[in-house]
Amino acid sequence: MIPYGKQTVTDEDIASVVEVLKSDWLTQGPTVPRFEQALADYTGASHCAVVSNGTAALHLACLALELGPGDWLWTSPISFLASANCGLYCGAQVDFVDIDPADANICPKRLSEKLERAQKCGRLPKAVVAVHMAGNPCQLKEIRELLHRYEVSLIEDACHAIGARYDESRIGDCRYSDITVFSFHPVKVITSGEGGALLTNSDILNQRIRQLREHGICRDPQNFIQTQEGAWYYEQQELGWNYRLTDLQAALGLSQLSRCDEAVAERNRIAQIYDQLLSELPLDTLKPMPGQRSSYHLYIIKVAEEKRAGLFAHLRSSRIGAQVHYIPIHTQPSYQKLGFSWGDFPAAESYYRQTLSLPIFPGLSEAEQDHVVASVRDFLS
Ligand SMILES: *Cc1c(COP(=O)(O)O)cnc(C)c1O
Repeated sequence: MIPYGKQTVTDEDIASVVEVLKSDWLTQGPTVPRFEQALADYTGASHCAVVSNGTAALHLACLALELGPGDWLWTSPISFLASANCGLYCGAQVDFVDIDPADANICPKRLSEKLERAQKCGRLPKAVVAVHMAGNPCQLKEIRELLHRYEVSLIEDACHAIGARYDESRIGDCRYSDITVFSFHPVKVITSGEGGALLTNSDILNQRIRQLREHGICRDPQNFIQTQEGAWYYEQQELGWNYRLTDLQAALGLSQLSRCDEAVAERNRIAQIYDQLLSELPLDTLKPMPGQRSSYHLYIIKVAEEKRAGLFAHLRSSRIGAQVHYIPIHTQPSYQKLGFSWGDFPAAESYYRQTLSLPIFPGLSEAEQDHVVASVRDFLS
């Protein structure tokens, strides 16, 4: 089976993990801050905190922005569940903004209408999680401008989008957002096994994120609430979590990060070949908005609704691990219990019924790509 995504682990990656295994630190030691500095350098953000996974990163992003009971978090229905669950973890309520079919990301027009309505009934969200679906940067300037007007915070869920670019900026530089979140799950662009990161340009948010990552513990005597009783003293100032990344994982992530641009270039090259080979067939492909650079975490095609299930089965029977990204979050039973139902976000549902992800990852051979395209052609003609 050719999977839809796959990690690449080199001998250098392995050697860097082994080196940590032979050192004095397994969990958070000197490699974690090195990985953080490298991520800050790579993206151009002032601060980076790495955590145990992308979901933990989203959770801490919400907590750092003080999302809590009585607050609302909005996100896109076309994302992995974690983009919405993070709001519920904080006791906030979650709502969705329908997508722009052009890029499958939050639609600025729908967002604008929804903000206007929400203001009238005093239900503006505290924060919005904007997802860069498949690695295609969302319409950041338009979204930022709208949220700024209503004083709503912006979290970029860039779990698909490390290495993508929006205009002059690299995704992760937080030029348009308060916090950007990455995931280093093996299926993503680079991996640390499990892992995630938060990037921000705010000193205050960075400090809160770090404290919440380690049980809510403060170790800086200047910020103690009580008087320091001795050198052993530390304070839990609020309830936090253990969301640390290990040095083992950081070593893998650091080694992978050095090849991130290469991996993204390779994904773009594979996407271009698909674009070419599929251009004659009765289907559309999900592309970045004009002028933007995708990281092509996913390569998504759009076919007639009545063909999608058949094509999926045909590809699977040809040993091609096609997948669907994503089942709209609001249609999940757990979200229906909160009051959502099919029909709530028509653009997202229509997108969902037409789309399929084809295999894309560095190392996918031309012969494999030919096989994928032949199978799609086979079914559609
Ligand atoms: C993978 C993913 C996450 C969660 O990341 P984990 O590291 O698996 O916890 C969140 N949002 C999106 C869009 C993702 O693709």
